[in-house]
Amino acid sequence: MVVQTFTSRDYKTDTHNTWCAGCGDFGVLNAIQAGLAELQLPPHEVAVVSGIGCSGKAPHYINAYGFHTLHGRALPVATGVKLANPNLTVLAVGGDGDGYGIGAGYFMNSGRRNVDLTYLVFNNGVYGLTKGQASPTMPKGLKTKGMAEPAVQDNINPLALAIASGYTFVARGYALEPKRLARLIAQAVQHRGTAFIDILQTCPVYNDLYTKEWYAEKTGSNGRARLFYLDDEGYDGRVADPTNVDEVVEKKVHAIARSYEWGANIPLGVFYQMEVPTFEEQLGQGGLRRDRLPVEENFEYRDLTRLMDSFR
Ligand code: SF4
Ligand code: MG
Repeated sequence: MVVQTFTSRDYKTDTHNTWCAGCGDFGVLNAIQAGLAELQLPPHEVAVVSGIGCSGKAPHYINAYGFHTLHGRALPVATGVKLANPNLTVLAVGGDGDGYGIGAGYFMNSGRRNVDLTYLVFNNGVYGLTKGQASPTMPKGLKTKGMAEPAVQDNINPLALAIASGYTFVARGYALEPKRLARLIAQAVQHRGTAFIDILQTCPVYNDLYTKEWYAEKTGSNGRARLFYLDDEGYDGRVADPTNVDEVVEKKVHAIARSYEWGANIPLGVFYQMEVPTFEEQLGQGGLRRDRLPVEENFEYRDLTRLMDSFR
């Protein structure tokens, strides 16, 4: 039997890329392709679902099934894809404006379900596609060259929000360190349940505050770089016993506290992880009533056609 070996090249497409030169999105794209290659996932067993924004174009550049959906709707569509075909590895991708602004309700409620999928947010602090307005992650009072005036609203903390919402794998990555990001993405895909990575991504066209030079500055303690990895300092956010409520709460509170570190010291890596049954496994165990859900046991395309016909 011939064992097929996939490389990053197998996940690339010939589609013309319209991202600006030097955009951090390229680093994330490379990391996704390297992560899929690390896991040796056949392209036809992967689906990438995106919302709207610069990063929403990612499925066009990845050789896998792709679905470029509506603004803020990557997660519900990815959930539907996974439930319709649990054999697929499903990635939802999109920007900070898409996921934390327009899609904020879906962001929180997806954490409650624990469907086995991975959500990657390209977080650049701005709405790049619409010329650089402040996104939900731009701190109040800051002003980039793309903004007419300083941000007037407080920013959100996506990691804290994800942990509080029930995500079972919560991490932060950096677009311009694609090797470590690829490893993080592979870990997230291997996690059973909903995995979330907030990826710090440079937008050289509109965000002149969070630049690659700013991220590279040696501002940390003892001359350490601003960005550092939690696991390099021995941090372990994994919950050993998910039935131990005290441990779960303690790990969550600690991870949330670390997620507020910003400025001179910005931690990367896995903040929190817990293995509990996925939504799909609960369906199989009768924990949820399949007959109350729109996904039938032997769902066929013709059933969908019949369903749509009933509304004509
Ligand atoms: Fe990248 Fe910013 Fe250009 Fe969008 S506007 S493609 S985020 S550099
Ligand atoms: Mg953005």
